[in-house]
Amino acid sequence: MTAILLRKVLPASKHIELVESDQIGIIGVGEATIPPIQIFNRFINLDESAFLRETHATIKLAIRFENWRRQGDSYYHTFGAPGANVGFCGFQHHWLRGQKLGLTPSIWDYDLHYLACERGLFGPINSNNPLHQLGYAYHFDSALYGQFLRRMAEEAGVVRTEGLIEHVHQDSETGFITRLGLEGGRVVEGDLFIDCTGLRGLLIRKTLGVAHEDWSRWLPADSAWAVPSERHENTAPYTRSIAHRVGWQWRIPLTHRNGNGLVYSSAYIDDDDALSQLMNILDTKPLAEPRKISFKTGRTVEQWHKNVIAIGLSSGFLEPLESTSIHLIQSGIVRLMKMFPHHSIEPSMVELYNEESKEEFETIRDFIILHYHATERDDSEFWRAMRSMEVPLRLQQKMQAFRATGAVFNEQQDIFRDASWIEVMLGQGIEPQDYHPAADVMSDDRFIEMMQQVLKVKQEPLGQLMSHDAFLAKAVGR
Ligand SMILES: Cc1cc2nc3c(=O)[nH]c(=O)nc-3n(C[C@H](O)[C@H](O)[C@H](O)COP(=O)(O)OP(=O)(O)OC[C@H]3O[C@@H](n4cnc5c(N)ncnc54)[C@H](O)[C@@H]3O)c2cc1C
Repeated sequence: MTAILLRKVLPASKHIELVESDQIGIIGVGEATIPPIQIFNRFINLDESAFLRETHATIKLAIRFENWRRQGDSYYHTFGAPGANVGFCGFQHHWLRGQKLGLTPSIWDYDLHYLACERGLFGPINSNNPLHQLGYAYHFDSALYGQFLRRMAEEAGVVRTEGLIEHVHQDSETGFITRLGLEGGRVVEGDLFIDCTGLRGLLIRKTLGVAHEDWSRWLPADSAWAVPSERHENTAPYTRSIAHRVGWQWRIPLTHRNGNGLVYSSAYIDDDDALSQLMNILDTKPLAEPRKISFKTGRTVEQWHKNVIAIGLSSGFLEPLESTSIHLIQSGIVRLMKMFPHHSIEPSMVELYNEESKEEFETIRDFIILHYHATERDDSEFWRAMRSMEVPLRLQQKMQAFRATGAVFNEQQDIFRDASWIEVMLGQGIEPQDYHPAADVMSDDRFIEMMQQVLKVKQEPLGQLMSHDAFLAKAVGR
């Protein structure tokens, strides 16, 4: 992703070299994304049909969270927004007023994405009405996506060098990295180095010694088992995230298989038990041996240091509960483009880069903590610890504000909009005690009519949609 985007943006006079090692390989997991990936794909002129075909992709409209608030309960965090903002205040305030007046639809009944997910539908919608927009992301095989982008990058002029980096050389005065020494003696020189070495952080952490900020006191998961299994007959247009006694499980539908995994904390369950939990709940035949992955949740404190910028897992790790890591690659590169050095590295740009990426990581961290903390589950030591932990102050304030008034707040770098916070807070059981006075501006009769109208408008496009599988077959020309 980094190489192709740099190549598309920078003039041909800037030499871009991608070094990677087949001996090490890639982490090979990561299948669910969020909608901004469409902007990335469009920018690099990726043909959607070819992309869907080559990466066995499916459409993602939401994540369905099961057993998170309590066992047996489920809700969706969709890529849409419930209702419409009428007048001064957000739709949640109108919905809350409706509840007081005895209107029965849930907030999700006003969300086109939810309606499409429940019916397994997707497709193009011919309408100019903004309430009819069906924004989407993808599930895909990220290894195939990487190979696809690598081919594109090479065709566009990126030089790819296969080889294990054995030595990293630094300038003795500045500490800047000057060249990489590869196995077999080859040397790659450079002015600017993007560290995409994954959890190793070979340049940023191992060479430059930038610290890692540990967030395991809030997000104790440090392990995952991943296993592919046969695909389901009907492909769901959403990811499933199913909470268990000590962690959670993902189920991601691709066109040729399902991706499954269990994310857990080794402090609460040992690896063998976690594996048997995962295998016992697989509902289709496994297609390969399960693979264990270990990680440490947290952030590389300075994601840009000297002449190295960490992109991808070298910049930090957040568990895949909200499918944010691939997006963080994209936003890291976009941020780098905005602040790209002209003739030399400007320290103020480095500081701003680091401040923005800190805020972005922290808002995602808080959003993920919200799922664990705002729960009624107390059926295990794990959930009791999650419920009672002290969460970061900003998250405490957001939860308290929503509970008291129904209001939501976003930081500038927060990738999740109001609707995301509203659906997850309500889904996790935070019920506002009040709503904004501006929602009372209409008479009861007029208000009820307006709410019925919104419900109707949100349902209108459903007739234009087709089954998700029919869409995929059509899109890839099968
Ligand atoms: C369990 C799990 C589930 C995930 N699920 C999702 C998800 O659903 N959605 C999502 O957005 N993200 C997800 N992620 C994150 C996602 O997998 C990563 O963000 C993504 O794969 C990018 O990884 P990367 O390129 O940073 O690292 P890697 O894939 O590890 O790539 C590192 C690269 O560096 C090279 N390298 C390393 N050391 C050397 C060396 N010494 N010499 C030469 N080359 C070297 C390797 O060869 C490789 O090419 C998940 C992660 C985990 C652990």
